Amino acid sequence: MSIKNDKINEECGIFGGFCKQGNIAPYIKCGLLKLQHRGQEAAGVCCGDNKQNVVKNSGLVNFALDNSVLKNLEGNFGIGHVRYSTFGDDRKENIQPLKVTYMGEDVSLAHNGNVSQAKNIREKFERIGEVFLSSSDSEVILKRLIFSLKKKPSLWTFEEVAKCLEDNFSLGAYCILLYLPNRVMAFRDTFGYRPLMFANCSEGYFVASEDVAFYGLDVNEIIEIMPAQGIEITKDGYEIKTFSKDNNICQCVFEQIYFSSSASNIFSQNVYNTRIKLGEMLFKSEDNNFSADVAIPVMDSGLGCAIGYSQASKIPFHLGLVRNNWMERSFIQPKQEKRSLNVKQKFIPIKSVIQGKRVVLIDDSLVRGTTSKEIIKMLWQCGAKEVHMRSVSPKIVNTCIWGVDIPTKEELISYKKTDEQIAKQIGATSVKFLPQEALLDVFTGNVWCTKCFKEDENEIFLP
Ligand code: SF4
Repeated sequence: MSIKNDKINEECGIFGGFCKQGNIAPYIKCGLLKLQHRGQEAAGVCCGDNKQNVVKNSGLVNFALDNSVLKNLEGNFGIGHVRYSTFGDDRKENIQPLKVTYMGEDVSLAHNGNVSQAKNIREKFERIGEVFLSSSDSEVILKRLIFSLKKKPSLWTFEEVAKCLEDNFSLGAYCILLYLPNRVMAFRDTFGYRPLMFANCSEGYFVASEDVAFYGLDVNEIIEIMPAQGIEITKDGYEIKTFSKDNNICQCVFEQIYFSSSASNIFSQNVYNTRIKLGEMLFKSEDNNFSADVAIPVMDSGLGCAIGYSQASKIPFHLGLVRNNWMERSFIQPKQEKRSLNVKQKFIPIKSVIQGKRVVLIDDSLVRGTTSKEIIKMLWQCGAKEVHMRSVSPKIVNTCIWGVDIPTKEELISYKKTDEQIAKQIGATSVKFLPQEALLDVFTGNVWCTKCFKEDENEIFLP
């Protein structure tokens, strides 16, 4: 059975904390709007002080969290979530935050990541007669916490929760927000695959997947929650705590290459600057005699990369393709048919930029090749003379078990194919990928996960 077929993978966004100036719900909504790129299938908010109330729905944040509903949500504490499901499991029960009442007290959880032990733990619970209302890992985590701690949520300590997470989900990728009576806690796993940021603001204390979510707040300080760290937020302040000495840091390079906003600073690097450097490195890896008339990005994450490529090559940068921002991102769509249709709706070519030109098209990555194939077809239809496809990530040749929706190996366009075979398949004049060695010049130090660029299946299971 493939990895994908027995698991729900997620690449989601979380935002939560404490608001000093009244209800937190509007702050959470604003934060989630800035994290919308991390998930567009559903959104939810859970707020209150002692009694927690949840609003969650399918769709984009503005639709799912309608102001007329949110205005009834009171309370200074709260957490929120934008969701992306990868396996067609977009049932309403899976929308987060997930709230339960235990011993008369409410507790809720929002999760970004994927915990590989969740399946086994779920089966163990089911064997003793426990029932699950959703198929998400998040419900397994919450149930495991309740079974381990067996006391009112108001009595749970940061250390007890962290120990339970590490005892049970230590092989997973998680950034978790936990909302307990009059407290919010956040935890980042020891590998640190996903980012987690904290902001101390005049308005309150907030935690989010990316610091772009804090834009617009009166920020005093932004701190990255490091792997094996967490934070406890009360109305009196906050405390960042380290819960494990394990040091196996393994940050997902795709957070920098693709997922995160260009405006974000995560893993101690600015995302836009990283993309510029990747574009420069990509050009440096070209053959000496390569030339083109125009460098065009595949928006949005290809933008910085194409600017870097253009600056290094002196090939003029042009937009070439206008992105229809009302469409959802194609990779962040769970069904293949929906993806193909989306590509055609999502990009509108500018013929005058393309006609008669040797185009070099810069994208962040090639996964299935669906987007590239459709875009290249558009460029030919607009009269391009040559179309050279370039990817700032190396060939993706393996799946991911840490929450990113990379398909089975056989679906990956680069799996066991030469550049020439890939070019033929997507209809390009040529195709090139950033070499792995060049990637390591941008992502320096031994703290990065690059496992999906390696074919050896064993490597992907051993962080
Ligand atoms: S395997 Fe690839 S997508 Fe998954 S965490 Fe590692 S770098 Fe990211």
